[in-house]
Amino acid sequence: MTLCPADKCSGCGACAAICPVGCISMREDAFGVSHPEIGPSCTECGLCAQTCPVLNPLPLHEPSKCYAAWNSDSEERRLSASGGVAALLARLYRGRVYGTAWSDSFMAEVKSGNAKDFKGSKYVQSHFSEDTYREIKSRLKSGEKLLFIGTPCQVAGLLNFVGDAAEGLWTADLLCHGVCPERYLTEELGHLRKGRNLTDVRFRSNDKYNYHLTLWDGDKCFYDKDQKLQPYFRAFLEGISLRENCYSCQYSKPERSGDLTLGDFIGLDGQVSSVSVNTTKGSEALKELSAKFPELQLVEHPYSDRLAYKPSIMESFKKSPLRAKFLDNYLQSGFYRAVRKTLFKDIVKSYATIAYWKIHHIGHLIKKRLLK
Ligand SMILES: Cc1cc2nc3c(=O)[nH]c(=O)nc-3n(C[C@H](O)[C@H](O)[C@H](O)COP(=O)(O)OP(=O)(O)OC[C@H]3O[C@@H](n4cnc5c(N)ncnc54)[C@H](O)[C@@H]3O)c2cc1C
Ligand code: SF4
Ligand code: SF4
Ligand code: SF4
Repeated sequence: MTLCPADKCSGCGACAAICPVGCISMREDAFGVSHPEIGPSCTECGLCAQTCPVLNPLPLHEPSKCYAAWNSDSEERRLSASGGVAALLARLYRGRVYGTAWSDSFMAEVKSGNAKDFKGSKYVQSHFSEDTYREIKSRLKSGEKLLFIGTPCQVAGLLNFVGDAAEGLWTADLLCHGVCPERYLTEELGHLRKGRNLTDVRFRSNDKYNYHLTLWDGDKCFYDKDQKLQPYFRAFLEGISLRENCYSCQYSKPERSGDLTLGDFIGLDGQVSSVSVNTTKGSEALKELSAKFPELQLVEHPYSDRLAYKPSIMESFKKSPLRAKFLDNYLQSGFYRAVRKTLFKDIVKSYATIAYWKIHHIGHLIKKRLLK
């Protein structure tokens, strides 16, 4: 049985979940990227290939409306990545929502949970287990109405997996830059936490830590680095360490896989989400959301306003010229050392730039004093 080529596979795991004899395992390749591996008990039934969203892409939807959206309750929005709309959706579907939350060992994983568990973008691939796929299908078959929030490739994998049971499933896909393999974050955190108790990991938020990697022990932040100076974060944002398939993502386009699409409304002031309404189900969900939560602010915009910032919506994120060097380094020394070797010069330059501006600023203050 042949599945999709490795450089197109998103690792969604839908093929492994559908296999009736359980002979597909998700295994890491030499670069730490997970792919399906078919075992000897395969009966050639073909179900895995039929479920794969790369081999059988679903029709995508053209959005009918686009909004700038945010929750006006700033405390409620504080730990969300941008406007906090995902958390409101999760509250609307309380008890019936699946999204990505941290596991106890800080792997990102798809699970059912509440708004608080899902807040904040986790810049790593989230693991979608076979059990979770099956749990969602079984709940749908018993007539429940569920919401799934995730990357467009996860939405597509899930819709192919649930097939005819999709009527009760509402989906919100994210505008998606790409994801790093889980192993990279695990290695990074293993080094950074230095045995300390870890209760939260954040990349985005509506406070002074936005676009910083921060590690928390309760209310105490014990590691805080800006994205330019933090090797894991910088490699992610500059397109050095993504899964190979993310550089040619079939969902980086204006037409969308979910009923709603959530993203950052880049180009507007402040941290505001973009919400596009892609289907009738999406329109119903947004109406219900705004009726239930008066704190949700919605300002309609032409979709072209959001399309103007192209990455993730008009085109896939570009591969960095440093990627080949990173992969070479990875084979020699694993993620933690490889990413530091690859980015050494650039991070030193960023430190030098910060030092230059600090000295410049102090010089300016001294001059002002002397001329008083
Ligand atoms: C990996 C990733 C890449 C992104 N790239 C872009 C981009 O290029 N451009 C853009 O405009 N927006 C991007 N986003 C979306 C953006 O960061 C916000 O999630 C979005 O604006 C919604 O913000 P929010 O405040 O409503 O919700 P948030 O607080 O961000 O929560 C949104 C939802 O994201 C889900 N989620 C978090 N991490 C993951 C993950 N690793 N995999 C799957 N689902 C996850 C959670 O279940 C949650 O329900 C990306 C998000 C992720 C996770
Ligand atoms: S062809 Fe059927 S048995 Fe073989 S791996 Fe695919 S789903 Fe499993
Ligand atoms: S179903 Fe998902 S994990 Fe399986 S081959 Fe296709 S893209 Fe890869
Ligand atoms: S960039 Fe595309 S393939 Fe990669 S995680 Fe995002 S939606 Fe999936």
